[in-house]
Amino acid sequence: MLAPDRSPHINDSAPWTDADHERLTELYMMSPRPPIEQIAGILGRRVGAIQSQASRLSLASSAGPQAKMRKCMRACGRTFLSVNYGHRICGMCKSSAEFQNLLRCA
Ligand SMILES: [Zn+2]
Repeated sequence: MLAPDRSPHINDSAPWTDADHERLTELYMMSPRPPIEQIAGILGRRVGAIQSQASRLSLASSAGPQAKMRKCMRACGRTFLSVNYGHRICGMCKSSAEFQNLLRCA
């Protein structure tokens, strides 16, 4: 049986691309921030998927006067939502196994 809400524009089984992350970050940075249902609609994903990505990228807690899009200092080169000047490594790199190893060895 097919899930009733499995409409064709919902692609939350597709992996998130860098472009998706940037779009999500941009939408979160908008003032006023659009409702999450609208963000989900724009990105063609479920609200739950938006919420989990937002928390993975620390978007929900990042809004502040120094927050802006900055380029990650690590090799990934992503533009990400940086909370302040000292925050220069994106959430994806921070959660990578390599970075966790660095922390352990430091
Ligand atoms: Zn990075």
